[in-house]
Amino acid sequence: MVKHPPPTPPAAPIVVDALSKTYGRGADATPVLRDLSFSVARGEWVFLVGPSGSGKTTLLSILGCVLSPDAGRVEVLGRDVRSLSPQAAAELRLRNIGFIFQRFHLIRGLTAQENVSVPLTLQGANQTVARRRADELLAAVGLAEHRHRNVRKLSVGQCQRVALARALVTNPDLILADEPTASLDGEHGHAAMQLLRELTTQSGATVIVVTHDPRIQSFADRVLKLENGQLCANQSPLSPNTPAPRNLGTDEIRSIGEFTPTPPEEPQNEPEPMLVVE
Ligand code: ADP
Ligand code: MG
Repeated sequence: MVKHPPPTPPAAPIVVDALSKTYGRGADATPVLRDLSFSVARGEWVFLVGPSGSGKTTLLSILGCVLSPDAGRVEVLGRDVRSLSPQAAAELRLRNIGFIFQRFHLIRGLTAQENVSVPLTLQGANQTVARRRADELLAAVGLAEHRHRNVRKLSVGQCQRVALARALVTNPDLILADEPTASLDGEHGHAAMQLLRELTTQSGATVIVVTHDPRIQSFADRVLKLENGQLCANQSPLSPNTPAPRNLGTDEIRSIGEFTPTPPEEPQNEPEPMLVVE
């Protein structure tokens, strides 16, 4: 696997200081993020919650170096995102950041193995190495026997597991997930998060999850709540009424996938997906 770590390992992989972002100009100007400041420690799981339209996807897109802030300083893995050229931002995304989306954004027509290999082949890895590494990840998410199957023929839960494998195949330092369980039912959403936790425990990756799903919030080390573009809470997640995550058995985790999907909500003006897509 070809992997180039950032030049100097940062103490905090994310540092946001007085970040603001406005879409449009003049009479059309819509302020979306206002004066946000927070940091995220290495290995921390931070969940970003808030009503629809509160700016969660915009913030995640800035942390993924897809959008640039208008004001303030944002450091991602030790790099000031406003000073990154488009090429440098693309390199950072490709080599050091894993993305997971509600609708998976798998490449239809390719097999599971080919989908998971894509980030490695974009990095220049040779195909044999990329496929071997993809197979390791597909085995880790319980899809070894489906690796040559076209993703069109996989269930929703299996597609999300392919997407998890693809996000992790480059062994990224940072994982950004936008509503990763919104297309899954409760149990499978929970199992997907548990699988992500297992897969990131060794690497120590930092994980940021945008979610409306109260059933997975007990996975968070910390919850950031956005409202009207401002951070209105920065808290530990477990209220007395929130059940601790139930530990599923390995077989149960591996069986994510055989269920009727909940139709996802239509997105509203979402920024373009951050990696190669459908
Ligand atoms: P969330 O993910 O919390 O639902 P978003 O970050 O997608 O919120 O959107 C925040 C606000 O910014 C919404 O009012 C949305 O309509 C608006 N918005 C999002 N993307 C764009 C865009 N590319 N151009 C203009 N407005 C946008
Ligand atoms: Mg959103």
